[in-house]
Amino acid sequence: MLEIAKRQPVHPPGFLDWIIDRIRGREQLLVRCTEKMPLLLVSFPRGQRYAAHELEVAYCHTLPRLRPETLAPYVPVLAALPTIIVIVLRARNPCGCLGHNHPVGAHSCLARRLASDLASPVGEMDLAYQGIREWKPQPLSSMALGELGGRQRAFHMQAAMLAVLLHELEHMAFPERSEQEIRHHSDALYAAAMEQLVMEESDRGYGIVAPLPRP
Ligand SMILES: [Zn+2]
Ligand SMILES: [Zn+2]
Repeated sequence: MLEIAKRQPVHPPGFLDWIIDRIRGREQLLVRCTEKMPLLLVSFPRGQRYAAHELEVAYCHTLPRLRPETLAPYVPVLAALPTIIVIVLRARNPCGCLGHNHPVGAHSCLARRLASDLASPVGEMDLAYQGIREWKPQPLSSMALGELGGRQRAFHMQAAMLAVLLHELEHMAFPERSEQEIRHHSDALYAAAMEQLVMEESDRGYGIVAPLPRP
């Protein structure tokens, strides 16, 4: 008799998302903010425009709202990046990571074509939007969910999206930097962004009481 509990999964995690992605195809959204920020060419699964839009809001509206001291570590990062960066949005990554910077040798056809058409360097990374949405740093659970309701989830998505995006952008801009240093910056950005967004909404601060788990 076959014991259900001992059965191996028929397909690895993320495989169904990958298949659906291939069947549906992809669409692109060009995200333009200020002249000082790289253009983002967001490639997203057809029908998932909201995920690309969430990234656009985080990059163009939430990021510039953050306090100068929160943004300080990323000023040299933004200045060192290529002028255009391809962001491959996926629901989840099979490895469970929330994002990866892609070295030039591992670029998609889209990024390679773009670099050749523009005759200039292009960056590329992937972001797992569903994984980012479900990422639950410890301090969030200690906040009063009822007070902000659904707004808290929206703030979390904005802060988490920015933390993962900027983390991978720092890998891209400064590949020699250690994971520990880059993590330190992105953890601090997430905590400061959440604190600011929640404080602006509820007009009071809250303390980060526990270290953040690894994205
Ligand atoms: Zn990974
Ligand atoms: Zn990293």
